Amino acid sequence: MIKFLDNKLYRYLSVFLFLNSSILPVKSSSALAAWAINTNGVLELRTKSNTNLKAYFQKANQISGDRFWVDFPGELKNPRTIKGNGQIKEIRLGKPDKGKTRLVIEFKEETYLEPLTWKMVGLDQNRWRIKLFKPKYSFKKIGEGLVEKKSGNIKANQNLIHKKKNNYGYLKLPEVKRNKFEVVIDPGHGGPDPGAIGIGGIRETDVVLEISKIIKNLLSERGIKARLTRTNEVDLDLPPRVSIANNTDADIFVSIHANASRGKRRDINGLETFYYRGWRGRLLAKGIQKEILRVSPGSPDRGVKQGRFYVIKNTRMPAVLVEIGFLTGRLDARRLEKINHRKRLAYAITKGILEYLDKVG
Ligand SMILES: [Zn+2]
Repeated sequence: MIKFLDNKLYRYLSVFLFLNSSILPVKSSSALAAWAINTNGVLELRTKSNTNLKAYFQKANQISGDRFWVDFPGELKNPRTIKGNGQIKEIRLGKPDKGKTRLVIEFKEETYLEPLTWKMVGLDQNRWRIKLFKPKYSFKKIGEGLVEKKSGNIKANQNLIHKKKNNYGYLKLPEVKRNKFEVVIDPGHGGPDPGAIGIGGIRETDVVLEISKIIKNLLSERGIKARLTRTNEVDLDLPPRVSIANNTDADIFVSIHANASRGKRRDINGLETFYYRGWRGRLLAKGIQKEILRVSPGSPDRGVKQGRFYVIKNTRMPAVLVEIGFLTGRLDARRLEKINHRKRLAYAITKGILEYLDKVG
């Protein structure tokens, strides 16, 4: 535990926190990996190991409210502002100088803070915690799971939980030519095969069927002939799913699934989209993956991958298999339980489909 802010300078307190003094080269990416302000007013930070943090507090002035900020080595790629709630006005991620990252938390004017009591606690080499305020009313958690690209094939999901103004405005669906396209949506599993079973008994078959039905409606409203391989809990083998698509003039085939991790690990979350081969399948997979990530902030991007699943291998048209999250993962399961999240995923997948049809036709 590292105590800080114990001096009496009030107007402009600057505090230096450290673990080791390794200095990152100017061009390296931000040492800030993830951050969250929890419902109890605690700010949590995850950084690269051995990061030098510098934290500051400034009292309100005419221009802005009380501000707390932390500087990290390494440059942030895309500065942004995230809307707050409760006592927090907004959070800004910026680069004050070349090669730096700054996380600013700006409080609302009437908020009463006690920075002299604040303590930054180092939980381990790369995790930090500081209690900033006591929420007056219920405070909605704000945060980003991955600030910048991580190593390995898990890519950063840089989407914001709160867009600056219009929260889900980006879900506006594009227009495509009516009565021209045909799409087959395949809700995975069904009947005696429930697919993955997740936290609290949540079942893949139920989640993917509901989402598939919403997608079908959204596509139909836009003049696309949409067909589901199943509309209820029936036992449906893989070959008939493929035949449904191959026996029609379907332009694309989209199979919807949810994941489970081996050993039901709650820390494994994320989304991924598979295609079998061809640039069309890949393009469709990329488009859908991009959109589903936008509505799943903080959940890892497991990427667009080639897969040899029966339904995408044997269909004749561009085909993808979407994994919308881990029912066994703490973050994903909590979301996938909610009808609103299912709707957002359905919108996102529909958007990916429409954009593909618009581009490739
Ligand atoms: Zn499945």
